[in-house]
Amino acid sequence: PADVERLGRHTWTFLHTTASYFPPSPSLAQKSSMLSLLTSLPTLYPCSSCADELGSYMKSHPPKEAVEGGRSTLERWLCEVHNEVNERLGKEAFNCDNVGQRWRDGWED
Ligand code: FAD
Repeated sequence: PADVERLGRHTWTFLHTTASYFPPSPSLAQKSSMLSLLTSLPTLYPCSSCADELGSYMKSHPPKEAVEGGRSTLERWLCEVHNEVNERLGKEAFNCDNVGQRWRDGWED
């Protein structure tokens, strides 16, 4: 439905932008907050089937190490999460080498 798409677009904007502005060397507090944000999504994301799929994906691809690694590992992890959804929905994969350019340095949608 249209609202799941709109919610998705805006949520990806928030998540990718936040990952791309995550520090390269985050503090303990920043890492812990980021991990809480990500691990909350399978419980709170207001599309329940999306949340369930995300929960199973995160079991095999936990965010902890990505967060520990700082900005570039987090950006890539999130890009791969999004690509898994893209694949499931029959959308094109995004080239994760371009994720910083897309979400930090910027080009128009
Ligand atoms: P979106 O997929 O919303 O992408 C927005 C923009 O992000 C694109 O224009 C592109 O510039 C950029 N982008 C695309 N791929 C990547 C990537 N891999 N890395 C970085 N940037 C990228 N919908 C469902 O129907 N079923 C689901 O199970 C589902 N699960 C979701 C789970 C989460 C956590 C989120 C946030 C959304 C989910 N959605 C789901 C919504 C879905 O992913 C799309 O947001 C929605 O279908 C709208 O797609 P779109 O084509 O407008 O672009």
